[in-house]
Amino acid sequence: MRAKIYLSKPDLEEVLDTVSFNENSVLNFEVALEKYIGFNKKVVALNSGTAAIHLALILAGVQKEDVVICQSFTFVATANPILYQGAKPIFIDSENDTWSMCPLLLEQAIKNCISQRKKPKAIVINSNYGMPSKIEAIVSIAKFYDIKLIEDAASALGSTYKKQKCGTFGDFGIISFNENKILTTFGGGVLICKSEEEKNSAIYLATQAKEEYTYYQHSEIGYNYRMSKLSASVGLSELKNIEKYIFCRRQIHLFYSELFKNIEGITLHKEPNQDYFSNHWFTCVLINEELVRFSCENLRLQLLKDNIESRQLWKPMHLQPVFRGCSYYGESVSENLFEKGLCLPSGSNLTDYDKERIKGSVNKLL
Ligand SMILES: *Cc1c(COP(=O)(O)O)cnc(C)c1O
Repeated sequence: MRAKIYLSKPDLEEVLDTVSFNENSVLNFEVALEKYIGFNKKVVALNSGTAAIHLALILAGVQKEDVVICQSFTFVATANPILYQGAKPIFIDSENDTWSMCPLLLEQAIKNCISQRKKPKAIVINSNYGMPSKIEAIVSIAKFYDIKLIEDAASALGSTYKKQKCGTFGDFGIISFNENKILTTFGGGVLICKSEEEKNSAIYLATQAKEEYTYYQHSEIGYNYRMSKLSASVGLSELKNIEKYIFCRRQIHLFYSELFKNIEGITLHKEPNQDYFSNHWFTCVLINEELVRFSCENLRLQLLKDNIESRQLWKPMHLQPVFRGCSYYGESVSENLFEKGLCLPSGSNLTDYDKERIKGSVNKLL
């Protein structure tokens, strides 16, 4: 048969010459990720991690007025899709080891909701800065109360808990490939699910809920969430480097732990024990101002002066104006992290010279 003539084929020859563009890249990227992630999981390539969270909520059956439990200490993308569905988030504080959702507060919130005859439809947790959460405890609570668990592992590609990859513990998992994540497709993400059936439902919703006719037929609301072939081509070549990227990020974490080793008052966010393996997407520190006599804001400004970017930790969702009026269970763990914490430069392409500059800048304060 002669080459197919398409209705309208993208004309991008120059770009496609520079990327090893692959016509079947979306499917191939999914297969490669399924192999990498393991545990018989199915992967759906989408155009963002946020889209993946939204689809996970829809597949978990979350509808208008439903209650969804969500970690407060996270990026807003974890929580926004709850509002897209017209559902109500209830925010939960973190615990001090992993900075992720506190299992005790989670259970308290669930019990309270059930006693008010409003059982939560789903739980959304986030592995902060690549660090696995106390996932075993969370999974067993979700199972006990029979509530769907969505694991936002947006930044935790390659992180593991007891050798199992983050994103594979819940009913649904998500990973992001936006520009600052450990692996980028210049915008993109995946939904991780358990069955071929769920995968097909996700693809259907992600492609405008187009039904299988030769013409355009739609009975439900759909979305334009599928990953582009170009992004998937980038992802496919980048995935080959993932172990190197993780190694580099972990080396950077070692660099910072060496730098702050003997400084009382500066604490690194680190793996609580050997069960946890973090890709150390970002290395984060907490500054105790009374002990070091400068604040995390002083450090941020000093670095800025030397043209080095750093950023405050997440501002908790329960403090965000957009979520005003939502319930919150917790004390001040996440508020304290926001007040005292900073993300430091952690890119896998940081050079020795960059590290020297960071060291020099930090030493001006110490
Ligand atoms: C990056 C990130 C997301 C969103 O991913 P996008 O691909 O940018 O939509 C969601 N949650 C967390 C915790 C993230 O860090």
